[in-house]
Amino acid sequence: MRNPHAAHAFSDDDAAIATFLEDVAIPALLCSLVHMTGDPSWVRERPLRQLPSSSDYQCGLTPDEQADIRRRAQPVIAAYRARACEPVALADELLHEMMSFLAGTPLVGRLAAVMFEDMQFAGGDNRAVTWADEIPADVKAATPVVVIGCGESGILAGIRLAQAGLSFTIVEKNDGPGGTWWENRYPGARVDVGSHQYCYSFEPSDHWSRYYCEQPELRDYFATVLDKYALGAHCRFGTSVTSLEWDEPASLWHVSVLRPDGAAETIDARFVISAVGSLNLPHLPEIPGMESFAGPSFHSARWPADLDVSGTRFALIGAGASGFQLAPSIADQVAQLSIYQRTAQWMFPNPVYRTTVPAGDRWALRHLPYYARWFRFMMTYPGIAAGTASYRCDPDYDDADGAAVNEGNAARRDQLEAWIRSQLEGRPDLIDKSIPDYPAMGKRILQDDGFWLQGLRKPNVELVRIGIDRVVPDGVVTDDGVHRPADIICYATGFHHNDFLAPMTVIGRNRVSLREQWGDEPTAYLGVTVPNFPNLFCLYGPGTNLAHSSSLFFHSEFQMSHAMEVIHLVLTRGAHAAEVRRGAHDEYAAWHQSEISQLVWAHPSITHSHYKNPAGKVFTLSPWPIDQYWELTKVLDPDAYELR
Ligand code: NAP
Repeated sequence: MRNPHAAHAFSDDDAAIATFLEDVAIPALLCSLVHMTGDPSWVRERPLRQLPSSSDYQCGLTPDEQADIRRRAQPVIAAYRARACEPVALADELLHEMMSFLAGTPLVGRLAAVMFEDMQFAGGDNRAVTWADEIPADVKAATPVVVIGCGESGILAGIRLAQAGLSFTIVEKNDGPGGTWWENRYPGARVDVGSHQYCYSFEPSDHWSRYYCEQPELRDYFATVLDKYALGAHCRFGTSVTSLEWDEPASLWHVSVLRPDGAAETIDARFVISAVGSLNLPHLPEIPGMESFAGPSFHSARWPADLDVSGTRFALIGAGASGFQLAPSIADQVAQLSIYQRTAQWMFPNPVYRTTVPAGDRWALRHLPYYARWFRFMMTYPGIAAGTASYRCDPDYDDADGAAVNEGNAARRDQLEAWIRSQLEGRPDLIDKSIPDYPAMGKRILQDDGFWLQGLRKPNVELVRIGIDRVVPDGVVTDDGVHRPADIICYATGFHHNDFLAPMTVIGRNRVSLREQWGDEPTAYLGVTVPNFPNLFCLYGPGTNLAHSSSLFFHSEFQMSHAMEVIHLVLTRGAHAAEVRRGAHDEYAAWHQSEISQLVWAHPSITHSHYKNPAGKVFTLSPWPIDQYWELTKVLDPDAYELR
């Protein structure tokens, strides 16, 4: 069977191909040419000069070099077309050499392994559940599973449970799939991790219309995947989980839900997979007078479907990742936009942040063999390979002024500061307001192609960097006593990131409350399992958010593989429950804290961020490079779990 990742056959004529080639990423094309011909010389001619980046997918190849490769590629592509678009099978050794070519260095060890696994050369889904017949059908039938949430990780959970042949229900509070991408519909909402890596490894990544696609396209993606894997019949939309209670004698979770009609119901499950995300409980500030505001006011994740902002005076309170996208997207419609930003934000200059994937690249992604996989490699590899080294606080670096945490971080700061200055040239007032006073990368880094910074220059836009004293019926009053009239207020003030699994009540063995056990310090073994809470798995749980490297899809796939391994262990051993041992959990949690506390996000110069708990410690983020976390979750340590 043809590998679904090998791309679709085509019949476009030579002239069309020549036009398409103008838009392609040449390094990915070179790899694709090896698949067309079996000839490795395409990647042996010359090493690439630099790693791919959003500002240069051509890896430093000069325009002349690119033109030469395009010219030589045309007849090869035509010959491939004449052979019914059948790629040549390549040996693993050559495929590894091609990865090393794009990486600019010999790729070995676990980094090579995780990247190779992600490439899906074998034809499908390397992380698919492939249980043999060792678990009898009646055992599977007696093993109901509840998945809470039908976003990115809940859909993945459904796919894996279906592959295992277990019976499962996905309970979702919203009326459709997509999770955060169902809920966040504010103008300008888009992903800020490249689309070609912000998708399941086992699904084609050849269809995105933009390099960083917008919310509707992502929402539709999740709906399409849900349909493709026939998960709809397992879903109960419009249904909220209110509590989970573990019944030790029965080895069951009693999952209490509220149905769409408001009626309460209990669903019993042997295993529960929490796929609720960790950025889904809106955080509203406590500003005096908020309730007195006369016009519409709402959180950014609750943008009213029928809201017309045109001609209004709009107050945007909070400007992190959401506000950053929202503000410039409405600036031209509103009469006045006042952006209340408490802390300035670092941003990467990203020229393709809002760019449509050009026709030629879309064609190549869809039709040239494995081009889409190599393009995904180009997008993911640099971040994954960089790991967390550049985020580490150097104890020998003088960080007394809180400007940087190591030498590379200081250079990064200079680069990011230069971008801000260049975009705001001639506006010293805005430059002063826009340069952060904490180390680069210390909070979630944002992306800008100039949209945000240029937006600040518009005559109807004001960046307010003064604290808010109160909200009044017709506007907002700042600490300096200035009253700015407003017709609408949007609070883009983030989420309760540290309150994992909130607002559900979770009661485990011996009536232990998860909320009380965690307090402000949520921890889980590998970010997935928690002592006292048998048969419960967290996806995107404590200590697994990514402020570095790559896309959360990688993490979800690793975590779900770990959950399935534990379920497999329980069922093959004739047990009813698995609970992570306290020792394994505590050792992991201590290791996690010791690592994360050395990284920039925990640096004391960052007085507050949504990554930190009230005491300034970080329990939300992963300190592990992707390949390290892959290794940690890859092989189950059965001794870490007690089976009952
Ligand atoms: P956020 O990054 O936490 O930003 C919240 C903003 O509200 C910050 O400017 C914050 O100021 C401000 N704020 C919070 N409480 C306040 C208060 N009491 N008074 C005044 N200002 C207050 O939240 P977000 O923008 O919703 O993003 C959250 C996360 O969602 C991101 O880190 C990212 O992981 C994800 N996200 C991703 C995308 C994407 O992929 N494109 C888009 C949106 C969100 P301070 O900085 O001073 O705290």
